[in-house]
Amino acid sequence: MAHIMANTESASAPTEVRLSQLQATSSPIETIARVVTCERREVTRKSDGSRRPLLSGLLSDGTATVRFTWWDPPREGIERGAVLHAVGAEVREFRGRAELVFTWRTRVEPASPAELPRVDSDALPFRTVKDLKPGEEGFRLEVRVLRVGRRTVTVGEEQRELHDGLVADRTGPLAFTAWSDFGLVNGEAVRIAGGYVRAFRGRPQLVLDERATVVRVEGAGLPDPAELLRAPPRSIADVEDEGGGEAIAVEGLVVGLLPPSGLVYRCPSCRRSVTRGLCRVHGQVEGQPDLRARIVLDDGTGALTVQAGRAETEALWGLTLEEARRRLRDQPDPTLLEEQLFEALLGRRLRVRGTGTKDDFGVTLVPESIERVDVDLDATAEELSSRLGGGG
Ligand SMILES: [Zn+2]
Repeated sequence: MAHIMANTESASAPTEVRLSQLQATSSPIETIARVVTCERREVTRKSDGSRRPLLSGLLSDGTATVRFTWWDPPREGIERGAVLHAVGAEVREFRGRAELVFTWRTRVEPASPAELPRVDSDALPFRTVKDLKPGEEGFRLEVRVLRVGRRTVTVGEEQRELHDGLVADRTGPLAFTAWSDFGLVNGEAVRIAGGYVRAFRGRPQLVLDERATVVRVEGAGLPDPAELLRAPPRSIADVEDEGGGEAIAVEGLVVGLLPPSGLVYRCPSCRRSVTRGLCRVHGQVEGQPDLRARIVLDDGTGALTVQAGRAETEALWGLTLEEARRRLRDQPDPTLLEEQLFEALLGRRLRVRGTGTKDDFGVTLVPESIERVDVDLDATAEELSSRLGGGG
């Protein structure tokens, strides 16, 4: 690609601009910002019908979030979360808002998050969980840590440790991922500044990188974690409308079981289910037996799928993995076992708490707890009368 600058442009070197100060001007600017969202597509030229690639989305530098369009972007390597240093970006106005355009004249290079502008966290506005949307940055949040755990993930060739879980304020819970160890502890109240929100499996997720700060606070007015985790069940139709949610509870009847359920075999390396001794990634493997149930739960307003793992399936079925394997030896047809599991679950009323995500097939709930709420009217009446009798 040719980089021949006209004299007029080389005369005025681009000046570095914060996105909050962005104004549509005739002279190109220099900026360092993070890709919050991006989407690659092609547009057809009217002149000759040829296709031209383009990347568009949102950029943020911690002071503001703006739209950007990048004509003829590199084929790969530009992803959500990447920090870019752009020299010679054009500023245009679209529907009254300034946005950035990278053309063949713009030099774009990867940069490190440390190069992003320093943000004075005390100057950031306070926000609540409920009104945070993917793409937002430059806010403060006071939340209670409901749950935090540590995982190791592979990024490229590198093994990185990340901390993830749930935080909440009075307006609701929010999933988070932290790339640094902030020493978060369950139940503590914290003030977070310098994080950003992205969409993860269709839900907002707070991301804390090395620029984020976490301060312990007293947390007056923040909800008690137990209270949040005990929230009453919601209608499945509502959960569907909101595209899932964190720490949600639903209650309904088991009306179906989706395959594969019952006794399954998993790859020892990646835990994917193995079909005829073959893992999709690792090829021929010795599958390890496991129990699972993909339960269809219906509450009259809608239905969702509950992904029950081994422990939950054992508890619901009243049959351990070992017992299921023994049964399979006596009756070597695995579909029979699946039918027996279905018979054991059908019509049972369950209250399930967990995290719901939505895709084209509807909402899937990964449970943190499954309770049976079998309504036994006789037993309820008996309990009630004994309480009333013994209470005087
Ligand atoms: Zn595998």
